[in-house]
Amino acid sequence: MNKEVFSWKVGTIIMAVLCIALTAALALTWMQCFEPEKAGTEDPDKTTTTFVSGIIVNDQGQPVVASVEVVDLESKTKIRRQTDLLGRYEIELPLGEYEFTFSKGFEYERESLLVSLQDRLRYRPSPVTLSRTVNWNDAGWYCGDLHQHTSYSDGYQDVGTVFLSDLANGLDFGFATDHNSVDGLAEWSRGGQLMTSGGCELFTAIPGMEVTTEMGHYNSLGTSALVDDSTTSGKDDIQRIADDIHRAGGIAQINHPFLTDGMGFTEWSVLNSFDTYELWNGKGVTNEGANLMAKEKWFSLLNDGIYLPATAGSDNHDVTGNYPWRRDDETSASKLWIERGLYSGMPRNYVYCPEGADADAVLSGILAGNSFITNGPLIDFRLGKAIPGEQIPFAEEQELMIHLYDQRGLESAVLLENGIPIHEFSVENQNEQNIRLTIPVKDGSWYVLEVTGSQGGYAITNPVFVGSFSGE
Ligand SMILES: [Zn+2]
Repeated sequence: MNKEVFSWKVGTIIMAVLCIALTAALALTWMQCFEPEKAGTEDPDKTTTTFVSGIIVNDQGQPVVASVEVVDLESKTKIRRQTDLLGRYEIELPLGEYEFTFSKGFEYERESLLVSLQDRLRYRPSPVTLSRTVNWNDAGWYCGDLHQHTSYSDGYQDVGTVFLSDLANGLDFGFATDHNSVDGLAEWSRGGQLMTSGGCELFTAIPGMEVTTEMGHYNSLGTSALVDDSTTSGKDDIQRIADDIHRAGGIAQINHPFLTDGMGFTEWSVLNSFDTYELWNGKGVTNEGANLMAKEKWFSLLNDGIYLPATAGSDNHDVTGNYPWRRDDETSASKLWIERGLYSGMPRNYVYCPEGADADAVLSGILAGNSFITNGPLIDFRLGKAIPGEQIPFAEEQELMIHLYDQRGLESAVLLENGIPIHEFSVENQNEQNIRLTIPVKDGSWYVLEVTGSQGGYAITNPVFVGSFSGE
């Protein structure tokens, strides 16, 4: 080997080592940003830990899968866990004072408990009963998450943990949508089979994937087929991705259309190849920024006669919902966003499935837009007896029937006609409200209901169409 080649080789090796070291350091810093915080581990006086364990049951005394949120009252650190399939939880914590909150989605009471851990004895609070305060299933509405990641791509938890978290947060169905991978779907479906064949809680596990490209992200919903994510042919590939999803029998969805850095949607000329539109992505602040832009674009598309049913997805990569990097963000919208958290079903879709939420019913409800999206407020909205996503013949007046509920309190409810507010209903400080009203409507118009709740609660329906509206 001559000297020049030798020194060139050494140089290359040194460069490679430096590159690897730099990448590793960057990756480590990045990972630390996403690391779920462990309560109190930074405090040397609090290294003694103990266990708190117990069980959560429903009104009938049956164990239920539920969510357990623990706030360290001193450091205000919050952690989120869920019970196992038998409703049991066991959490190791440093000695100190804690507030435990037990919950199971939006239709069950939340229960809180103050726990003072003084010594290393195991703490066993008595069983916690979570009562169901409302049952939206009775009116035909079932809820689920359309956008979730597991450790098969860049999610923090395995499939089983995400599955349990969905149950714990009161979801009736859920999609696993890993980036360019369908490897976790066998486990995901197995979990669903377990529930439908004798599981005491109903849950429909539906396959999916997030086709992740440099020209936007697209959910393939309702199929286990691996969709080719290459975009070497540019826009033609975006069209081809939608076609591939349809050939596999799935729903093709545009995800977070207004995210930047290649994650958003730019090929509006092939919009009509897609079926649904992720109006609300959980990683962004509720009804702000990219989510608000997505909503405004959706309104203007509707006014142009173009209708893609709106959906929501938590897009969560960590069901413990700890996103400490956001805590320094002082805007009030961000604070409320943090208060609501980011975990399974935040936000979620309520889909109308009057015969029950099997996979086919959920998918056709999503495709028709028979749904509303929410992080808390519950809506049953009917105009002239039609539910969201339906069209009614024109008549000058229509009967409006609205049933609202929010366990944390309602704040406002506004009816929009073609994107413009036309009625504000007085719902403030109520938990539940029934509204019946006859209103004048306009031919060719679309109507949605937008509801806010206290502490950042937000919900919006898909439209009811009146008369000659010709949505594509
Ligand atoms: Zn994405």
